[in-house]
Amino acid sequence: MTDAVRVRFAPSPTGYLHIGGARTALYNWLYARQKGGTFVLRMEDTDAARNTDAARETIFRGLDWLGLTPDEGPEQGGPFGPYSQSERQDLYRHWANQLIEIGAVYPCFATKKELAELRAKQEAAGESTRYDGRYRDLDPAEAKRRIDAGEEHTWRLRVPEDETVEVDDEIRGVVRVETKDIEDIILIRGNGMPIYNFVVVIDDHLMEISHVIRGEDHLTNTFKQVLIFKALGWDTPRYAHLPLILGPTGSGKLSKRKHPEAALELYQQKGYPEAGLVNWLASVGWSLDDKTEVMTRDELIERFSLASVNRSGARLPLDKLDWICGDYLRRFGVAEIEAGIRPYLQQKGWVAEPPTAEQSRQLRVLARAQQERLRFYSQIVEDAAWIYEGVAKIEGKAMKNLKKAGAPELLEEYLEFLGTSAACAVDASAMETRAKAWAEQRELGIGKLMGPLRSALTGKTQGPGVFDCAEILGNAEVAARIKSAVAAGRAAQSS
Ligand code: GLU
Repeated sequence: MTDAVRVRFAPSPTGYLHIGGARTALYNWLYARQKGGTFVLRMEDTDAARNTDAARETIFRGLDWLGLTPDEGPEQGGPFGPYSQSERQDLYRHWANQLIEIGAVYPCFATKKELAELRAKQEAAGESTRYDGRYRDLDPAEAKRRIDAGEEHTWRLRVPEDETVEVDDEIRGVVRVETKDIEDIILIRGNGMPIYNFVVVIDDHLMEISHVIRGEDHLTNTFKQVLIFKALGWDTPRYAHLPLILGPTGSGKLSKRKHPEAALELYQQKGYPEAGLVNWLASVGWSLDDKTEVMTRDELIERFSLASVNRSGARLPLDKLDWICGDYLRRFGVAEIEAGIRPYLQQKGWVAEPPTAEQSRQLRVLARAQQERLRFYSQIVEDAAWIYEGVAKIEGKAMKNLKKAGAPELLEEYLEFLGTSAACAVDASAMETRAKAWAEQRELGIGKLMGPLRSALTGKTQGPGVFDCAEILGNAEVAARIKSAVAAGRAAQSS
């Protein structure tokens, strides 16, 4: 083996790309990029009953979205293919026979019933349940006779007695387990097909994987896999086990059944900017120091290190995702924001495809006005409803502004002024300058106008700048909304 860095992401396509899986892919990718290595995608699709083409597609497209396109994989090909386990069956058969030939595995004739009884007995005695090695020392001639007679059997690894398996993990340091605590695991099924731990070893070896970077839930598999590497006389790769990601409340493993946030698709659908998401994902379990949060992709590549990945699991910090993505969005150009929010408004039927000239004008102002507040693009649906759905429902607090003594009169006067002012609502900053001058002339603090005006235009007490809101709506709509707010304010005063 050369000392080239070759890492792999090895998902099982069973439905969706787990956010923890996406992080595993990202850490592998960062490591490969930093070391000038190769990032391999291997599809672990041997479970025909659970694997679907749609799930494979979800993984491919999810990685593309994050910019983690593999150097070698089912779609890219490469010198170590095929890269889907379902297409590597002949290789597995070959190496299974090899294991049998060298005597590293032995046939086990225990029936399901026999194993269930063993288990029940161990449970009743309060012992840990495990295979007891009952066929390990079966006379080879007897074993051959039973196989030749067609008796059903599996092949189990002859786990060495009284040895210590040691793994010098890049993140956790040395971890070890005594072989007396590892049962003789089944490597080859009755039908000759090898099982998971075996095929992973074959693939990692043949694909010349130098570092296996994967979730900590695989640590017990790692010990078994190391034994299989040794049985075949092969060098083991380096290992790095990543801490688990817990649910957003910090209790329990993150699972899609309980947490929709477990699926990468959710983030894509919500419209988080992919660069911000990658930055955040890198921070779930790794940090440079205790203050640097926002880093570009190149900075992440340069700074990432396995040694500084946390050892303990952490809850999914969704609040941090929002602020990191908000930070990215604030640095985007307005055109980019506009392109990001437009599909969500079109989906709602608020904006035509293509937008009308007036809608395009509104979109531009809206993008500018919302940029500061945006954390993900679909947020616009909630934040911009006031524009497209009108203010039939005025929030309680906003209503308070409208029914204050003098508020309807003030709005009415302002509306009259707008009618005489050429700037009107065409341009937010001109409108603001004029409003200030008007307020000053009337010896009135501009603040007095702002609350009722915002309430009138948006039905809310918070949102983008009031004059931006007016610019988005345009003259006619501003006048119409002020008029109906005046009426609503008066009606509330007299009720
Ligand atoms: N296919 C395994 C999984 O999806 C990963 C195996 C590995 O990384 O070795 O959990």
